[in-house]
Amino acid sequence: MTVADNYNRIQKAIKQACELAGRDSNINIIAVTKYVSLQKTEEALRAGITHLGENRMEGALEKWEHFHDKATLHFIGSLQSKKAKHIIEKYDYIHSLDRLSLAKELDKRCPEGRKIRCFVQVNVSGEDSKSGIQPDEAVDFIESLKEFAAVEVVGLMTMAPYEKNPEDTRPIFRRLRELRDRIRSLNYPHAPCGELSMGMSNDYTVAVEEGATYIRIGSLLVGNEQGNAK
Ligand SMILES: *Cc1c(COP(=O)(O)O)cnc(C)c1O
Repeated sequence: MTVADNYNRIQKAIKQACELAGRDSNINIIAVTKYVSLQKTEEALRAGITHLGENRMEGALEKWEHFHDKATLHFIGSLQSKKAKHIIEKYDYIHSLDRLSLAKELDKRCPEGRKIRCFVQVNVSGEDSKSGIQPDEAVDFIESLKEFAAVEVVGLMTMAPYEKNPEDTRPIFRRLRELRDRIRSLNYPHAPCGELSMGMSNDYTVAVEEGATYIRIGSLLVGNEQGNAK
């Protein structure tokens, strides 16, 4: 299977999911290239993909070097405050804002006149292994981000646990959407919060049905060259 084949299949499945849910088809597909080479990433761009996602500093910087003028770049992994400065100027979106100390660092390091577009990561499933703030802390957390002028909350992000039956992830995605709706309705100028980053290879159709606007797909789209694909 080429990346183009995978991309076609995924786009078809998204279209179906949108029809089923009666929703718009305004969905951005982020190719998560953390497991794959530069060549594979090239192939993804040639297939028409315009968003790339990386979760580790090293891979993120390498992909930036080669592709920053060809794609929108998303940092989707957890970000250590002391390393944030390397990502701020290079990446277009950060999907893992989960603490005030990180917001403070982003604000401090942000070049004058720029904004850093962030998703606040929420641990909806409550698993210990997942990062993110607790859902019931989200409103207070987002409200307190207003003191960091450079931070713009574009939306919420979550990772659902892996489920054999993807349908079982639906309540997680639904809960994130409800939380997003609530925060959006507060009309905070620093947190328009219209976007939902949710859905991966295993569960993206369910996430799309529940309103995802950014989905993050690795293994199913570009593969997993480390050989530990699902
Ligand atoms: C790796 C990763 C993905 C993609 O995972 P796949 O199951 O390979 O699609 C999505 N989001 C985050 C945060 C990741 O780390």
